[in-house]
Amino acid sequence: MRVAIAGAGLAGLSCAKYLTDAGHTPTVLERRDVLGGKVAAWKDSDGDWYETGLHIFFGAYPNMLQLFKELGIEDRLQWKEHTMIFNQPDSPGTYSRFDFPDLPAPLNGVVAILRNNDMLTWPEKIRFGLGLLPAMIQGQKYVEEMDKYSWSEWLQVQNIPPRVEKEVFIAMSKALNFIDPHEISSTVLLTALNRFLQEKNGSKMAFLDGSPTERLCQPIVDHITERGGEVRLSAPLKEILLNDDGTVRGFLLRGADGAADEVFTADAYVSAMPVDPLKVMLPPLWRELDYFKKLDGLEGVPVINVHLWFDRKLTDIDHLLFSRSPLLSVYADMSNTCREYANPDRSMLELVLAPAKDWIAKSDQEIVDATMAELKKLFPDHFCTGQPARLLKYHVVKTPRSVYKATPGRQQYRPSQKTPIANFYLTGDYTMQRYLASMEGAVLSGKLTAQAIASP
Ligand SMILES: Cc1cc2nc3c(=O)[nH]c(=O)nc-3n(C[C@H](O)[C@H](O)[C@H](O)COP(=O)(O)OP(=O)(O)OC[C@H]3O[C@@H](n4cnc5c(N)ncnc54)[C@H](O)[C@@H]3O)c2cc1C
Repeated sequence: MRVAIAGAGLAGLSCAKYLTDAGHTPTVLERRDVLGGKVAAWKDSDGDWYETGLHIFFGAYPNMLQLFKELGIEDRLQWKEHTMIFNQPDSPGTYSRFDFPDLPAPLNGVVAILRNNDMLTWPEKIRFGLGLLPAMIQGQKYVEEMDKYSWSEWLQVQNIPPRVEKEVFIAMSKALNFIDPHEISSTVLLTALNRFLQEKNGSKMAFLDGSPTERLCQPIVDHITERGGEVRLSAPLKEILLNDDGTVRGFLLRGADGAADEVFTADAYVSAMPVDPLKVMLPPLWRELDYFKKLDGLEGVPVINVHLWFDRKLTDIDHLLFSRSPLLSVYADMSNTCREYANPDRSMLELVLAPAKDWIAKSDQEIVDATMAELKKLFPDHFCTGQPARLLKYHVVKTPRSVYKATPGRQQYRPSQKTPIANFYLTGDYTMQRYLASMEGAVLSGKLTAQAIASP
């Protein structure tokens, strides 16, 4: 079967990969001149990489890890020590850690929490542990039901002291969906906590050893093309053309550089675009259907990825860090964490700025100035001295609509991969699958879509 897939993010590429494995012939049509969508990266004129987002792979990503295995590139994942490291705002330049011992789950998580005495008191830990029991005992059903509450509301309902939210969960909410606890659905936090506590290596983290475009997306493309598929860049879907019965007749592609538009036909069609551009492109006839109307309930959240190159080493920490800053979410010194970006003498910080709604329209310079002000609290030894570290250069990548904003009640709007249109399917991290809007969710959705096409 010939399958046309619009979008070469991880979902579109995963869908094409699993279709070729099942003997089908996909063509991936990507709007931009770069692979990867939200994992896309670019090389600047100095040969340095900058990325759409700082990306972490977790032990609790079975479909992603399976994909690495199938592609024979498992050695590209650089696994870090099993710990979570938080900055301490009250004590600038110091860190608090949750170290997971080599014990079975959930014991390793319980020990990690109990051993940390910087961030939570014993009564707070006990109250929080008791609050989590229903999620651990009743599992996913309970987690889904809690979509009616924001995380702040859920903590209140469970009688968990507000300090727990302030100390730990502002950082976690921002890391998971780029928004604060009063906005995020408790389903998101409970899903992550359940995976982290129920799988021994669930919260173990890995960095890719280079840029996601070259080190992850390209091997998927090679796998697809070696088996007869195709991936075309700079091939934007302009319109979904319909037959009289409402099924898809073809994808109309916008011609590049004044070239004529092209009609691309196949036996089945997939949107692997994010939900925001898909909504704009829906044919009027389809908009009347409940299945497509529900997409109005989903909308991408803004986020900004900041890269700063310095004239010296700021830290030796080879891990992800939770900044606990009002401006920033997580960050890492990529000169330590990533083989291809390694530099023994100079730091390259990659920092996620979230929530970003008040920053997305600001200039790069304003964003960098505000980030530099935060760095005084994160690295006082290097910025509050007579000879502060010097910023050599920066790159700012803004994504005004990234993953869907997971506020309470969103689960009901997430569509299945199969649509009411016989030859049209959806894939993408926002479609319904048991992982959040993440790389794992994108890869799993691609696999589910390929299965739906191969065995309708
Ligand atoms: C700053 C940031 C940090 C993140 N950190 C993590 C993390 O640490 N761990 C994690 O698991 N996830 C993380 N994510 C989320 C993860 O990147 C996404 O969930 C995942 O990459 C989404 O993949 P996708 O294929 O569903 O969508 P996308 O990657 O958005 O792919 C959609 C593709 O469709 C293309 N497209 C759009 N319109 C058209 C058109 N008209 N014609 C053809 N193509 C079109 C786009 O160009 C794009 O390539 C992060 C995201 C960001 C932005």
